[in-house]
Amino acid sequence: MSLLTLDNVTIRFGGLTAVDTVNLEVKQGEILALIGPNGAGKSTVFNLITSIYQPTEGKISLDGKALTGIPTHKIADMGITRTFQTIRLFPELSVLDNVKIGAHCRGKAGLLQAFTRLPSMKREEAEMEENAIKALEFLDLDAKKEDMAKNLSYGEQRRLEIARALVSKPKILLLDEPAAGMNPQEKVVLMEMIRRIRDTGITIFLVEHDMKLVMGISERIAVLDYGKLIAEGTPLEVRSNKAVIEAYLGS
Ligand code: ADP
Ligand code: MG
Repeated sequence: MSLLTLDNVTIRFGGLTAVDTVNLEVKQGEILALIGPNGAGKSTVFNLITSIYQPTEGKISLDGKALTGIPTHKIADMGITRTFQTIRLFPELSVLDNVKIGAHCRGKAGLLQAFTRLPSMKREEAEMEENAIKALEFLDLDAKKEDMAKNLSYGEQRRLEIARALVSKPKILLLDEPAAGMNPQEKVVLMEMIRRIRDTGITIFLVEHDMKLVMGISERIAVLDYGKLIAEGTPLEVRSNKAVIEAYLGS
C-alpha cells in the first residue's frame, strides 16, 4: 500500500530541471532509500515533499491526500517530518528543549508559549515533555536530556535531530544523509535505531551515500541521476543494475 506518492513530479530552477518527471511510491511501513550522485536532486525531492518547494509539474500525495499548496509548517501536521543534510540544532539549548521544539512545530502551543508557561498550556506542555522524553529514550539520549546540545558527540547530535523529528509522531520520517560524518561505530548504532523506529510502524524514506548502510537496512532502493529516476528495486537488483553502476556505484 502506497503511503507517499510522487506522480510525475518535476521542478525546474531556471534552466535546470533538478527533478524530472519522477514517479515514486513509498509503501506503508517500508525502509526506502534514495541514492544517486551529488546534485542528482535527492534533497530537492525532500524539499518538494515538505513543501519547501512546489513542483513545477506533477503531484505529491500522502494517504491519497494532495500536498499541493500545503505550507511547510503544516506538513508535520499531515504526518511528515524530516532531518536535514547538515545538523540544525540549537547548540546552546538543552537536549530536551531541542526535542520539544520539534513538538511545538506541531502542537497548538507556540514556541513562545512553551517557554513562558501560560497556565492554559500546562497540560499540553506536560504531554509534550512526556513525548519528548520518550523520543529521547528511543534514541538512547534520555540520560543526556539536560546537557547542552553542543556538548553531545557528533553521532549523538545527529540522533538528537532524529528524536526531534520523531516527537510529533510522524507517519513517515525523511532522513537526509543521516550517517554523513559518522564513524563506523556510530553508523552501526544508527542503523539499529532506524530499524527500531520502523518497527514502531513509522515509514522511513532516507537519502544516504553509505552503501553498506543503505544495502543493510533498505527493503527497496530508488536511484536518481540528473533528476531522473533510473532504477528502483531491492538492494540486490539495484546493485547489479548496469545503469546504476555506470551512474553511481561504479565510481
Ligand atoms: P543532491 O541532494 O542529490 O546532492 P540537490 O537536490 O541538493 O542534490 O540539488 C539538485 C540540483 O538542484 C543541484 O544542481 C542544485 O544546485 C540544484 N538546486 C537545488 N536547489 C536549488 C535552488 N533553490 N535554486 C537553484 N538550484 C537549486
Ligand atoms: Mg543532498
